[in-house]
Amino acid sequence: MAYYITDDCISCGACESECPVQCISPGDGKYVINEEECISCGACANVCPVDAPKPRD
Ligand code: SF4
Ligand code: SF4
Repeated sequence: MAYYITDDCISCGACESECPVQCISPGDGKYVINEEECISCGACANVCPVDAPKPRD
């Protein structure tokens, strides 16, 4: 299981520095999570103002 970032992302950048494994980076129109490295801690979702990071089922 990993988190991913939905199109709701407004590219504010708040989540990038919160990730303990540095797997979030700016992408094309939104930030993206490297799901191979994500440990599903939820820190990105906790700081996101628009609730864009979501856990995959
Ligand atoms: Fe990083 Fe945790 Fe978000 Fe995964 S859930 S991208 S490890 S902050
Ligand atoms: Fe996008 Fe939310 Fe991360 Fe800001 S905190 S860059 S809106 S996912």
